[in-house]
Amino acid sequence: MNRFADRLAAEGLELRHSRPEILQVNVGKLCNLTCRHCHVNAGPRRKEIMTRATIDRVIDWLAKTDIAIVDLTGGAPEMIPDFRYFGERVRALEPRRHIIDRCNLTILLEPGYEELAAFLARNRVEIIASMPCYSAENVDAQRGDGVFDASIAALKLLNSLGHGLDVDLPLHLVYNPVGPFLPPPQAELEADFKRELAAHFGIVFNKLYTITNLPIGRFAADLRHSGRLDEYMDLLINAFNPATIEGLMCRNTMSVGWRGEVYDCDFNQQLGMQWENSRPLFLWEIDPEKTEDRPIMTGNHCFGCTAGAGSSCGGAIVQVDRHLRGRW
Ligand code: SF4
Ligand code: SF4
Repeated sequence: MNRFADRLAAEGLELRHSRPEILQVNVGKLCNLTCRHCHVNAGPRRKEIMTRATIDRVIDWLAKTDIAIVDLTGGAPEMIPDFRYFGERVRALEPRRHIIDRCNLTILLEPGYEELAAFLARNRVEIIASMPCYSAENVDAQRGDGVFDASIAALKLLNSLGHGLDVDLPLHLVYNPVGPFLPPPQAELEADFKRELAAHFGIVFNKLYTITNLPIGRFAADLRHSGRLDEYMDLLINAFNPATIEGLMCRNTMSVGWRGEVYDCDFNQQLGMQWENSRPLFLWEIDPEKTEDRPIMTGNHCFGCTAGAGSSCGGAIVQVDRHLRGRW
């Protein structure tokens, strides 16, 4: 049963695409980490990666549009063999497009990736980096032993190349809770992160995005295993905030999978909720002029995006009053 669709209907709300402003491309499930909360089930043994031929078809389609932002995600997107090729082809487009790399930080220190940080700086790539806490204990519990130290080293490397300091080289961090609860207020947590990372490590960054863990993938399996999935779903449902609907990322984003197939968002992608159920619908089959006003496919997992202050690839969607926060 799609309780989310029922809730939207009860509120008199509809969820439809507006004009796409962001093309989010999930280039594959290959990753050097195996985080407990991963909604992609990514890891070092995954074989699904975008080929150069598919990259070419994605770029050729993008060139016919005015979509200004290309958001690369994975897995660790930098691990696919043609990551740099992808970035360079996007950079060569006219008019210019802005590139975002969703980076787990640790990849920047892996053998064979020594030049990666310099490549990202040279190509003016915005980095949105996972950093679930400023304490080693919480980061290592969620992402694996040693990940905190590696992340700190990677952030220092990025700072040394200008990311987080140069206005053309944004460096944003992403916080997601280490357990089945909603993120704290984004602005307050950003202030804490800035203070602690600067004081202890001399690290600077631009913004902190708080993201809610959606109950899918490895996170859902973990909750199911510990008998807390229903409790978490109740938390999300009770915290439904209709004010978040307008700013949901699925409205202005198109999500593309490693084979070039299209979805409403990366979460729907991982759940296999394709635009046409009978077969994959590929990006290059879509008329770029006919992407607006399409209904968005929803499910109970969508309550993760609409709980409390809301959650999107750019963090919280709305500010929430203190007295309301107390209810969640
Ligand atoms: S959460 Fe990110 S870094 Fe962790 S396994 Fe998944 S894709 Fe890799
Ligand atoms: S999971 Fe979130 S972003 Fe995706 S369709 Fe549902 S509400 Fe939109």
